[in-house]
Amino acid sequence: MATPYDVIIVGGRPAGASLAARLGQQGRRVLVLERAELPSLPNVPSCPTLHMGTLKLLDELGIDEAAYGKDAVRFEQIAVQFGAWFTSRFSFPTVHGRTFGYSIERAPFDLTLWEHLARYPSVTRRRFTVTALVKDAAGAVIGVQGHGPRSGEGESGEGERGEDERIEAPWVVGADGRFSFVAREAGAKVVEEAAEKVSTVYFTEWEGLAPLAPGMAPLLHIYTTGRGLNVLMFPLPGNRTTLCLHQRADRVDIQGDAEAYYERTLRGIPAIAARLQDARRVGRVIGLKRVGNGYREAGGRGWLLVGDALHYKDPVDGQGIYDALIETRILAEELERWFAGGVPVDAVAPAYERRTRQTTHPMYRATVKRIADELYTEPPVPIIRTLIRWMLHDPVYQARFLRFLGRDLDPATWMPPGVVAGIVARGIWSDVRRLFGRPSPAIPGPVAGT
Ligand SMILES: Cc1cc2nc3c(=O)[nH]c(=O)nc-3n(C[C@H](O)[C@H](O)[C@H](O)COP(=O)(O)OP(=O)(O)OC[C@H]3O[C@@H](n4cnc5c(N)ncnc54)[C@H](O)[C@@H]3O)c2cc1C
Repeated sequence: MATPYDVIIVGGRPAGASLAARLGQQGRRVLVLERAELPSLPNVPSCPTLHMGTLKLLDELGIDEAAYGKDAVRFEQIAVQFGAWFTSRFSFPTVHGRTFGYSIERAPFDLTLWEHLARYPSVTRRRFTVTALVKDAAGAVIGVQGHGPRSGEGESGEGERGEDERIEAPWVVGADGRFSFVAREAGAKVVEEAAEKVSTVYFTEWEGLAPLAPGMAPLLHIYTTGRGLNVLMFPLPGNRTTLCLHQRADRVDIQGDAEAYYERTLRGIPAIAARLQDARRVGRVIGLKRVGNGYREAGGRGWLLVGDALHYKDPVDGQGIYDALIETRILAEELERWFAGGVPVDAVAPAYERRTRQTTHPMYRATVKRIADELYTEPPVPIIRTLIRWMLHDPVYQARFLRFLGRDLDPATWMPPGVVAGIVARGIWSDVRRLFGRPSPAIPGPVAGT
């Protein structure tokens, strides 16, 4: 039977909107269903940065940097503060033609992606909650069931649901986030997961956080205790900053009140407490417990998953939106091959799964390793005073780290042993020079720390 759409996409944020844009560019008839009224924050909270790889993928989609940049802060440096030991600032090298990233607000960013779809005549957007997948007698997914708000776009809230509707298409794509309804309904199995050494995050916005140093331009600031707790500071427009507690999950003991826990923990770190002195909290504390890392099956007969629904991960490396956008590029290509004929229906999901794994798995492994190394391992003081200090001040390390985040270096090999050996040699040399009264400007000497 002919259906009115080629693809139904459930979810209209980074994954859903970017897939719709890619398919819309090909003239495919796409229906994007999003239950939330935009602009709004996603259900699963997020305080994101966009690194250069993500900006490149947004360019590919034809999304104007000025459109998302106007509600964002552009930063050209990252500061890494290692407890009371030292602070190091990394300047961005040129990666994919840019020397900066953005710290964005999700609500306007997601709206920009959603509104971008207006330029594709074959893409239809609807505010609609999917409540069931429609399956044929053999179990293949052939559509969705659900409802919109009672009287069209703009209305919100439970109790205003419209009539139940059933809509069919050859493909239903779940772009519906980490706790994907489509995945659950389709019976998608988790095929790989790192659920043990995980983080818990709590965050909210503050106004008037004192800068790291007087007069310093806004930057992305990572404070690490080296003892299982990080504070990630993301600059926002209007002198606001998101402060995110990123902690090894097994050490989080909120005793019932997340807000009090968040404030108490932040203010218990002297360097952060000092900067918060004249700041005020302007948001509700939100968070996510035990942030798992993993992959689900990519799809089956009539259904596919993309974005966080397919591959969910810790926010430490700021890769979620990149992964969503690269997965949708691959998925659009695989669907096009099927639409063009010649590819059996059962070959679509395996081909897509194989390619997304190849593309995203090295970063996934790097992220899982970073959580284990940086939250669950406590380096001894002599190592902080030498190897870690050398590394975080080394210009080669800094440039490679930012290229790794910008997906310009293979995450599996971005820090080869030869480069580490060079860092160690330069670090030792700089300390030897210091002994002879000729300190290196790049690598400051060891500090007392606490
Ligand atoms: C604390 C935190 C910080 C993060 N920081 C970063 C960062 O710095 N950089 C970065 O790139 N990424 C970051 N991420 C990850 C990023 O937020 C996600 O990877 C990204 O939002 C995934 O996009 P998505 O479109 O797959 O899913 P989502 O953004 O979760 O969107 C899913 C959409 O599906 C809709 N939906 C769900 N069910 C239904 C239904 N039944 N019917 C209709 N619609 C439905 C929802 O309303 C929602 O709008 C962070 C995540 C967290 C938790």
